[in-house]
Amino acid sequence: MTKTETTPPPNFIRNIIDEDLKEDKYKGRVHTRFPPEPNGYLHIGHAKSICLNFGLAAEYGGLCNLRFDDTNPTKEEEEYVESIKEDVRWLGFDWGDRLHYASDYFEQLYEYALMLIRKGKAYVDDLSAEEIRSHRGTLTEPGKESPHRNRPVEESLDLFERMRAGEFEDGSRVLRAKIDMASPNLNMRDPVMYRVLHAHHQMTGDEWCIYPMYDFTHGQSDSIEGITHSICTLEFEDHRPLYDWFLDELEIYHPRQIEFSRLNLSHMVMSKRRLLELVVGGHVEGWNDPRMPTISGLRRRGYTPESIRKFCEKIGVAKRDSMVDIAFLEHCLREDLNKRASRVMAVLRPLRLVIDNYPEDRGEELEAQNNPEDAGMGKRKVPFSRVLYIEQEDFMEDPPKKFYRLAPGREVRLRYGYYITCVDVVKDEKSGQVKELHCTYDPETRGGWAPDGRKVKATLHWVSAAHALEAEVRLYDHLFTKENPNDLKEGEDFKDYLNPKSRETLGSCRVEPSLAGAGPGSQFQFERLGYFCVDSVDSSEDKLVFNRTVTLRDAWAKIKKSGKKQQ
Ligand code: ATP
Ligand code: MG
Repeated sequence: MTKTETTPPPNFIRNIIDEDLKEDKYKGRVHTRFPPEPNGYLHIGHAKSICLNFGLAAEYGGLCNLRFDDTNPTKEEEEYVESIKEDVRWLGFDWGDRLHYASDYFEQLYEYALMLIRKGKAYVDDLSAEEIRSHRGTLTEPGKESPHRNRPVEESLDLFERMRAGEFEDGSRVLRAKIDMASPNLNMRDPVMYRVLHAHHQMTGDEWCIYPMYDFTHGQSDSIEGITHSICTLEFEDHRPLYDWFLDELEIYHPRQIEFSRLNLSHMVMSKRRLLELVVGGHVEGWNDPRMPTISGLRRRGYTPESIRKFCEKIGVAKRDSMVDIAFLEHCLREDLNKRASRVMAVLRPLRLVIDNYPEDRGEELEAQNNPEDAGMGKRKVPFSRVLYIEQEDFMEDPPKKFYRLAPGREVRLRYGYYITCVDVVKDEKSGQVKELHCTYDPETRGGWAPDGRKVKATLHWVSAAHALEAEVRLYDHLFTKENPNDLKEGEDFKDYLNPKSRETLGSCRVEPSLAGAGPGSQFQFERLGYFCVDSVDSSEDKLVFNRTVTLRDAWAKIKKSGKKQQ
């Protein structure tokens, strides 16, 4: 491969691959795979693994498979399979004709198991799961051998065949590898290879009533598919000797396993078990709730595939567990949206503003730029009239020193419009709340500049009341208040740290009329307010609904500047 300007920086995985290529270890092949278990939706941690596996394959002109590791029929579902395929495609990757299921190999795995029994390397055990656990020993104490460990090969063969034939109840017998009950690595203490489980499988139906354990499936599946570099997360480091043992005893092709550290995000949980708990418990709207770290949640929130890929590239890969600040993910998103999102004006909490000296029957169209970063994105017309809405928080009756926006007697600029001066404030008699502002405008300042050169200190966004569209806008904050909701004291639950203010819904926002008919997922920058997208679930022709993807304030830049935290 030729290194180019765009070649990502080296990391320890690339170094290993480079070395293997130099030594011609796999005949010049690079073949990776992404192996999800279809027991939930993919999250941003999976995206790291997807970008790594598909990315390396693309970089080295190799191949990457998508393989469902579907050995747990009771927890797996077709819905998850479909969502995973959709998410991988959306991220921009293609497995071509290499879509596989571990269940495709059930027959082969069964044959492998028979081979090990015949070699005297596996035996059927009649102990219960509970007994096996109590015989297992601890890190400091060796385990205890099962009384069935040395039963004759013929007996194990017969029992295993009868396990498959459906003669035994769930949990009554298992097949175990015969390795070493005194091994310092607990994974090597005669691990279970097969269990009896009378359960319907989403791919193989009722064909099987015994299922291989993940540890007896994963390594062999990689071997069958001719994977060269089997990249997985650190918790599998201790399983590697077991995978090696299986492959060596079976005398089959041996991929190279490489472990890297999982991605953890601050203010977030990532395990599928916990995410499922949030979904089932109704703490979020579903797997695709815009507050979730799932790919489908991020997509609905307005994340782009490019921003996620960039994030995954920038965090790199390492061997050490780390926590990435969620502000860094948002930073990568802002950089991307800044380039692609059209600027528009929207008012989240409207305050009516009447321009007294602007004729009632008049209206005009002002020219606005779609993206100051990119003149190629063109211009548009924004209607202006006598009655406008501005943001409630852009006015203060009694402003403190550093408040430069609108106040009684003060002049400010309306974006793309005129200079206006506040001349009167109308309040609700009972509550004392400001209901309406009266202003005058200076007709000489069209376009936002005064010919006499006088300056104003603030520029406000606005919409024309008669032309604006109503919209619902949802603002989001971190799903968890605690930086690491996985770090719990005894008696605490991660859900104790759910942020009660993680979503705020504003029902009567106003957006400029150019947003009429904006399709699901389309993205905009609402000037001064952040990046927003049309909600793909709840928005319709009759009702516009927006999600705030992210604010404009780059918390990451601040963190970096202060030097307090490093990602
Ligand atoms: P979880 O613990 O979140 O339930 P998992 O590891 O059980 O995830 P799998 O479906 O087995 O989920 O994961 C598929 C692949 O994605 C594996 O190779 C796994 O190592 C990788 N992966 C899962 N979570 C992360 C993460 N947080 N960071 C990086 N890679 C991950
Ligand atoms: Mg897993």
